[in-house]
Amino acid sequence: MTLEAKNRILNNLQLLKSFGYEYHENIDLHERSKEMTFLPDDLNELKKIALNCNLCELCKSRKNVVFGEGSANADVMFVGEAPGATEDETGKPFVGRAGELLTKMIERVLFVKREDVYIANIVKCRPPGNRVPTLHEANSCKGFIKKQLELIKPKIIVALGRTSYQYLSEDENTPISKIRGKMIDYKGTKLIPTYHPSYLLRNPSAKKEAYEDMLKVKSIMDARND
Ligand code: URA
Repeated sequence: MTLEAKNRILNNLQLLKSFGYEYHENIDLHERSKEMTFLPDDLNELKKIALNCNLCELCKSRKNVVFGEGSANADVMFVGEAPGATEDETGKPFVGRAGELLTKMIERVLFVKREDVYIANIVKCRPPGNRVPTLHEANSCKGFIKKQLELIKPKIIVALGRTSYQYLSEDENTPISKIRGKMIDYKGTKLIPTYHPSYLLRNPSAKKEAYEDMLKVKSIMDARND
């Protein structure tokens, strides 16, 4: 084994340790209930760890880790699936065509600036060819989004699309078309699933429902500000 390979394994073991894993037991990244609780309570420190993460294969093909961006005091947090090509190039979430649509949804329906909300993904590195992240990739990365939610403490979480909804809610069975627009509890915070902007680009007729979901988000925001 080369020194570089040994260092990479050591780095990964350190990272897993910081997530709270202990090595006297088998590590099963597929075990969904495993909580990663030892990540830092500071968004910048968390970002540094994410930028150096090698826990799954996506680290080999990524150009940039897309940690997330926006206001650390955001009332609304949008959670997507994983970066696409433009996001991988720039290191910023939702900056391609789907991102343009998301920005319009935020600015024209919620009437807040994009930089006043927080936008992140379940998986921080681009899956090749924009495929859906595997269970292993999502579970390896899940600690980051959970910690981001814990630190930002948004009043409302908007899960964009099926993958985001499934991983946040751990409900694998309900189709997004059935659950969209419904208010769900995520650890005491309101979570509203809606269609992913990429789906809306492919299926413009679903924009009406997504608009209704965003109006619901807006009404919760307004009720809280009264
Ligand atoms: N799709 C996502 O789910 N996230 C992005 O950041 C871009 C496209």
